[in-house]
Amino acid sequence: MADDDRGHVTNDALRELGERARQCTACRLAETRTTVVFGEGSADARVMFVGEGPGRNEDLQGVPFVGAAGQLLNRLLGEIDLRREDVYIANVVKCRPPGNRDPRPDEIEACKGFLAEQIRLIDPDVVVTLGNFATKLLLRQEVGISRLRGHAYPWWNRTVVPTFHPAAALRGGQAVLDRMHEDFALIESVLAETAEVEAPEPEQMGLF
Ligand code: URA
Repeated sequence: MADDDRGHVTNDALRELGERARQCTACRLAETRTTVVFGEGSADARVMFVGEGPGRNEDLQGVPFVGAAGQLLNRLLGEIDLRREDVYIANVVKCRPPGNRDPRPDEIEACKGFLAEQIRLIDPDVVVTLGNFATKLLLRQEVGISRLRGHAYPWWNRTVVPTFHPAAALRGGQAVLDRMHEDFALIESVLAETAEVEAPEPEQMGLF
């Protein structure tokens, strides 16, 4: 299929998936959300970021990473010559956990099919997991982000680069930010090494 056609197919499929997410009532977060925050960005992004779940601003606006953590993410992207519109940004859970509590295991379980399908449709070379929840879900690791970050992991014909959640850098100061700069440099080098070739689509039944 020509790239242009593929773009249309992906956009349509993503739109339909987003529609399904907006009507989803599979877990209790549906009762308290204002807006479903499905995801945003380029349907043919080479890099996809996965956060934890929408916060207050995201819940009100329906867009991921629009608050202070989002500003930092934008800055880090700029430093490796990427703009927000070049990448795709999604979360593990699409609805805000009330009071910004952690998403619960059954909420992650109920929502993870949307993320798996977003990854399949966007087909990124690199998936950047922001913080513990996204990293544990994709890499199926109980080890915390501090120990997992700093490395690139082969994952279903792609590469996962785990890093801290930007909110952790806002709380944790320069030491965390320095590690994030290193991880973003790693994203840049993985992208440079990954040829833009059509790889056969991996079987994703057991993605996570
Ligand atoms: N934190 C997240 O994990 N996701 C967002 O979209 C915003 C803040």
